Amino acid sequence: MTATIIDGKAFASALCKAVAQSVAEVKASHGFTPGLAVVLVGEDPASQVYVASKGRETIAAGMNSFEHKLPAETSEAELLALVAGLNADEAVDGILVQLPLPKHIDTNRVLAAISPDKDVDGLHVVNAGRLATGQPSLVPCTPWGSMLLLKATLGKMTGLEAVVVGRSNLVGRPLAQLLLAADCTVTIAHSRTRDLASVCRRADILVAAVGRPHMIRGEWVKPGATVIDVGINRIPAPERGEGKTRLVGDVDFAEAKDVAGHITPVPGGVGPMTIASLLANTLTAATRRRGLPEPTDFAEACAELMRAG
Ligand code: NDP
Repeated sequence: MTATIIDGKAFASALCKAVAQSVAEVKASHGFTPGLAVVLVGEDPASQVYVASKGRETIAAGMNSFEHKLPAETSEAELLALVAGLNADEAVDGILVQLPLPKHIDTNRVLAAISPDKDVDGLHVVNAGRLATGQPSLVPCTPWGSMLLLKATLGKMTGLEAVVVGRSNLVGRPLAQLLLAADCTVTIAHSRTRDLASVCRRADILVAAVGRPHMIRGEWVKPGATVIDVGINRIPAPERGEGKTRLVGDVDFAEAKDVAGHITPVPGGVGPMTIASLLANTLTAATRRRGLPEPTDFAEACAELMRAG
């Protein structure tokens, strides 16, 4: 068997289009433009690239983008004051503080200071709690995007066995909650799990969010399973030339694609969904804050756009 590849890039572009359409609708009917504020402290090169592309995509979707670039020596108090200002700013619907923060700043304190209703990264404990108790919440972007890919691939997931490898607040835990809300039978595996291979082999839906290149082998995958590889790992690629690297997932793709029914590649799978999901979260935050109806069902809107080509 050769798995069908889940094209996250095409899906993410459909999601961006669906968000842009909804933004145009809220502008026309309610006369406001949703806005996303992104805060970057320091000069981490990877973070600079992420922040620049978040800004570009936000504007491309028809929303306002507010970038706040602060020097690495910014104090925690200064950052908290900026966050307080953004919480109170009517033009700002979503606030994202790019992680990691410099070591002298307490990340949890900063995340806790963001208004939960503007917390488009979904990392505030209030949003984690809302998600865990089945209430409308803002969900971290990568798990939310992964769920859209799963819905588009599988439709209803009722009763399926889902195994999530990884239990971080950013990916594993929220994704497990989303799968539970979709009526899957969910197992969360982690570094202390015994006989991980046989736990994985139970999964109709296998999610890898570990950060270890190629850890999940083909023989760990149940034939026909849907495999979502969240991992992004940079490994040496001497075949591309001296000092070159390439990105790989947590799943051994070459092996797993011969066993799985559907699989996300790395790159081009879950990765592109993250920014697209951030845009969707910003629009959702903007409408909820104003007591307007929820924006469109994005899973459905994307599926339609994909069908239309
Ligand atoms: P964390 O390091 O926060 O969490 C990793 C998890 O994997 C932990 O729960 C850890 O278990 C578990 N783990 C580590 N080693 C093993 C092992 N040998 N067997 C089983 N479980 C193990 O990572 P994140 O959740 O933040 O990210 C996971 C991956 O996803 C990374 O590659 C990251 O780059 C990628 N990522 C991709 C994004 C995207 O946009 N596509 C966005 C965010 C992350 P324990 O809790 O016991 O330590």
